[in-house]
Amino acid sequence: MLAYHSDRFALPLAPGHRFPLDKYRLLHEAVRRDLPGLRLREAEAATDGELALAHAPGYIGDVAEGRLDAARQREIGFDWSPQLVERSRRSVGATIAAARAALAEGVAANLAGGTHHAQADRGSGYCVFNDAAVAARLMQAEWHRRRRALLRVALIDLDVHQGNGSAAIFRDDPTVFTLSMHGERNFPFRKEASDLDVALPDGCGDAEYLAALDAALAALWQHHAQALPGLIFYLAGADPHEGDRLGRLKLSAAGLAERDRRVLAAARERAIPVALAMAGGYGHVIADTVAVQLGTLAAAYQSWRKWQHNRRAMDPRVESPAAEPDFR
Ligand SMILES: [Zn+2]
Repeated sequence: MLAYHSDRFALPLAPGHRFPLDKYRLLHEAVRRDLPGLRLREAEAATDGELALAHAPGYIGDVAEGRLDAARQREIGFDWSPQLVERSRRSVGATIAAARAALAEGVAANLAGGTHHAQADRGSGYCVFNDAAVAARLMQAEWHRRRRALLRVALIDLDVHQGNGSAAIFRDDPTVFTLSMHGERNFPFRKEASDLDVALPDGCGDAEYLAALDAALAALWQHHAQALPGLIFYLAGADPHEGDRLGRLKLSAAGLAERDRRVLAAARERAIPVALAMAGGYGHVIADTVAVQLGTLAAAYQSWRKWQHNRRAMDPRVESPAAEPDFR
């Protein structure tokens, strides 16, 4: 399974900044150590033309040249630096690459991404550009160019914060379905209307969460009764975890693993490719966040293996990929 990273492009944080930037490097190292079946690739940077599929050209230029005013920059939560621009482009590039790989192989991942608070003309909440929104539009364009057909897309956003940026970008676009399950009392405090919003109470635990997830997925399939999506972006935030300092929910690591398994199985049963992004995670103990994300990638890898098995069973001409070591 292909997995794209961009953690080499770190950004300088102000002293005392609470964003856990290290988690990206730690996850990359953990994947290298514990998931040898993942083929790791460094992401290309997204171009202005790609970003403009979901963002206003004026906003892209202001970010690139460091012209955002202080209030806009504060809303993002990071000081401007050339590294911030490069890292934001790379993270979008990683989701684009993961989406292309998912369309080819069934499942692929970005080891970062999920910056779902970014709207067309402004960033917010540690999000500069909306990677899934850009990648969704680009995959639709590429699909149409090759096949002269519509690629329907669904965003399954299970980060604990509402995917308000994605909801706003796709508000009037019936070809991209936005599903967000999030903490009702959590950031952003003014929420946008997704196609399906599931607001969860503080302290929500595994059983309540998984029941809500089953209902949301049922509603997603019901909405697509005439035509299924051809691609899913799964924002697998680690921040619903009970050890998260921002999450306010109480999911265990096992509950989150079950969440991932259900989303991936539901997509695979319908032969819908899935591109994953890691989205948020702010554990009191950073290793807990990394462990949850590693679990998500392990579940994705298991799903990828089943995809390859199914494809070989259906079409014996599909060559086996070079022998991949088993997931330990
Ligand atoms: Zn979040």
